[in-house]
Amino acid sequence: MERGLNKIYKLIKSKLLIDGTGGEVIDAGQILIKDGVIEKTGSPGEMGDIPENAEVVDLSDYYILPGLIDSHTHLSIVPGEGNQLEQMRLPAGKGILRSIPNIYKNIKSGVTTARIMGEENYIDIDIKEAIEQKLIQGPRLLVSGRGVVATNGHGVAHTVADGPDEVRKLCRQNLARGADLIKIFVTGGVSSRNSTLDFCGYTLEEVAAAVEEAERAGTYVAAHAHGGRGADLCIQQGVRSIEHGAFINEEQLESIIKKDMWIVGTFTILFHPEGIEKTDFNVPQIREKVLSVRETVAKNFERIIKSGANLAIGTDSMHGFIGFEMECLVDFGASNMEAILAATRNAARACRVEDKLGTLETGKLADFIALAGNPLEDIKHIRKVEFVFKEGEMVNIEGIGFDKTTSGY
Ligand SMILES: [Zn+2]
Repeated sequence: MERGLNKIYKLIKSKLLIDGTGGEVIDAGQILIKDGVIEKTGSPGEMGDIPENAEVVDLSDYYILPGLIDSHTHLSIVPGEGNQLEQMRLPAGKGILRSIPNIYKNIKSGVTTARIMGEENYIDIDIKEAIEQKLIQGPRLLVSGRGVVATNGHGVAHTVADGPDEVRKLCRQNLARGADLIKIFVTGGVSSRNSTLDFCGYTLEEVAAAVEEAERAGTYVAAHAHGGRGADLCIQQGVRSIEHGAFINEEQLESIIKKDMWIVGTFTILFHPEGIEKTDFNVPQIREKVLSVRETVAKNFERIIKSGANLAIGTDSMHGFIGFEMECLVDFGASNMEAILAATRNAARACRVEDKLGTLETGKLADFIALAGNPLEDIKHIRKVEFVFKEGEMVNIEGIGFDKTTSGY
């Protein structure tokens, strides 16, 4: 087949089309795709003339929604194995090999785009290229390279940057190597032994340096921040997103809304028995932090959801668990549609890829998934993804992976 001369058309038929815009769902909705890009969507009566040579993909027993976007994850880490930072310290080769089954779990779970929030040795950038070159199957990756973190901060594997000059240099190195965004660790975190959650690792000047470097290069900063002084600095200095945000207070939430910033929730790692609980509960400092933070997160996100703030979600290395992430949002009070938007339209906006991804609309890449049950009736249907399409091509999710389990449920 001569691509380009004979345009490749596909017509996708569904039982119900949830296009990810948050608008009305479409009974028996159809998608017309040309060369991996959506030409048109609508009910059968609205589709007009369909090119004769269009390949018909009959998914009329299935519920179709946009490919899911995991807005915050890593590649080489498996939280249940314990000591995540030690996992990131492994040599590049090992890190890449460890990443492969995780990538497969992601695509099998319906994640067609994933934003990678820090790896050592630029393995995220090399893996991104390997996926683009079709050496391996996987979600399209948005990458940040090496995380920007202070010597005494949370998230230190090998790389550190202290003072505005070192922060600038590390940002520039990441950007030169092909980073799509800058990830900075500002406050303490749950999974490290030596930082409390209200610890603030960076000064105003250091956060400002990262934001300025990113913006001059046409991109943005996503900041690991739970709350307190660190979150204040991030909000003042204009980072794009607060990642995790366990302790965002009322005043901070107001500023986040006013400045049109994003909050990216990461719940599975904290709440699922396969997460931090599985192994790191042996470490008393971590166990205490997890137990205390669970209650706070549930209450805080109920408030965040009600506030209407920009909200996306990420599995934070709980590969295959994006469905559980959405279930958590529903538990905290989101509607099923709001949970879907947090992993589709809103995630695309948080990651600044909404021009191409996140909804099933004309001009966007034809990334979509098919489910046997209606996720608007029961969000748990997202746990079992039957078909995954990336840029109009079906991904053979049965034929990939090192084990037979489709996810960790
Ligand atoms: Zn993370």
